[in-house]
Amino acid sequence: MGEQARDTLDIVVIGAGAAGLFASIWAGRTLREAGDQASSVVALDGAKKLGAKILVAGGGRCNVTHHAVDERQYAGTSLPAIRNVLRRFDVARTVAFFAELGVELKREETGKLFPVTDDAHTVLDALFAAAGDVGAALIHPWRVGRIERRDNGLFEVHGEVSAMGEEPPSVTAPSRAPFVARRIVLATGGRALPLTGSNGQGYTIAKALGHTVTERVFPALVPLTLARDHWICSLSGITLAATLEVRSSTGKRLKQFTNSTLCAHFGLSGPGVLDISRYYTDAVRDDARAHLVMSWLPRETLESVDGALARLGRSSAARWLQVAGLPERVARALCESAGVDPLAPGHALTRESRRALASMVVQTPLPITGDRGFTYAEVTAGGVPLSEIHLDTMESRVCPGLHLCGEILDVDGRIGGFNFQWAWASGFVAGTAAAKLLKISSDSR
Ligand SMILES: Cc1cc2nc3c(=O)[nH]c(=O)nc-3n(C[C@H](O)[C@H](O)[C@H](O)COP(=O)(O)OP(=O)(O)OC[C@H]3O[C@@H](n4cnc5c(N)ncnc54)[C@H](O)[C@@H]3O)c2cc1C
Repeated sequence: MGEQARDTLDIVVIGAGAAGLFASIWAGRTLREAGDQASSVVALDGAKKLGAKILVAGGGRCNVTHHAVDERQYAGTSLPAIRNVLRRFDVARTVAFFAELGVELKREETGKLFPVTDDAHTVLDALFAAAGDVGAALIHPWRVGRIERRDNGLFEVHGEVSAMGEEPPSVTAPSRAPFVARRIVLATGGRALPLTGSNGQGYTIAKALGHTVTERVFPALVPLTLARDHWICSLSGITLAATLEVRSSTGKRLKQFTNSTLCAHFGLSGPGVLDISRYYTDAVRDDARAHLVMSWLPRETLESVDGALARLGRSSAARWLQVAGLPERVARALCESAGVDPLAPGHALTRESRRALASMVVQTPLPITGDRGFTYAEVTAGGVPLSEIHLDTMESRVCPGLHLCGEILDVDGRIGGFNFQWAWASGFVAGTAAAKLLKISSDSR
């Protein structure tokens, strides 16, 4: 291809999303703190505009983290391994880090932390400035097609020619020439929101360097679909607090969340549904008869609803459901789907119809037809297993000199800032360790 070599770079970060920016900043800081002004940190990203996910996060306000982060809010290779990484850069450090950059965070009632400006640009601009302060260069659009590790331990980073854009004037080598790097931080994200550039190519790159990827890679924090003629779809636009529960084919409760749930024309969305989605998808793949049920009145039980209906007298079931807090449309739809006349007086209800309605209220079966896919997912379940990573450095166990962080790894968190906290913590560990290990190897040369 007539490719011309460039000067060898010290640390090349692939992907300048949340994890890659953090890794770049902390690699640069660590080098500066060691008095090293000469070593280079360069982040390459295929996107024309950087930080798309940071800007869309939290409805444009960027839910930076959560006040109470622990490994139980995550799923992935192993919770102890996730804890191990999270504790190296905890919420207090995240808050202090952003405060130092002039980004004050506020905690909302839900425990989520947002910038006081309510504007995600504040977060992204601060990260860019922090990268600039330590001399980390952000080159984009420069999409990486493949990485090769030479026998001498250096990495060749080849661009994906079809996706190559203009390089900034500071980069003088021809745009198609591969970069050569002593250390790589792979932070290409997963497959969620592929238009942003995170389309899973990082998995191919990681596999070519000796890694595996979990057998299952699927959308998480994703809306779920029902058949378009399902009665819940006709409630489109209604939001309420509901309990969603994944049950095995034997009826065992596998996972449960109570949170705001949105009825939509395609099925169900909202935080509760997004949280449960990955557990439902995973369960169904293990057990085809696993299923999802929903309680429209989380504080009630089968017995309490049945008892209340039995005591209705001349009042109707629909009226009671409304008094219990449900919108009129929902009350009517629940009665109708249970085969109960919404306006019939309570004393006219048979025992069977009371039981049928009580069951519909606290355990509506949800015949999920699928999910809305990666385009609507906030995060990816699955990825490179943490068992292939040294957790104290995020360095690969199979490819020395390669570090991985962020969503490319088999870790996904609940809604509420947990996924960014994973990106910050793993990016911090990868960046600082890449710089320290670089120093150790260059000092011994
Ligand atoms: C709509 C939406 C809202 C969200 N809201 C929140 C929220 O409020 N709070 C929260 O905690 N989490 C939220 N998340 C999840 C969070 O954004 C991600 O978990 C986090 O951004 C992952 O960071 P990352 O750096 O690992 O990956 P990404 O942010 O996906 O970044 C990866 C980067 O790598 C680049 N890249 C990929 N492949 C290549 C390649 N081959 N060559 C060069 N560059 C490449 C991409 O262009 C991208 O810039 C949200 C996600 C979505 C989709």
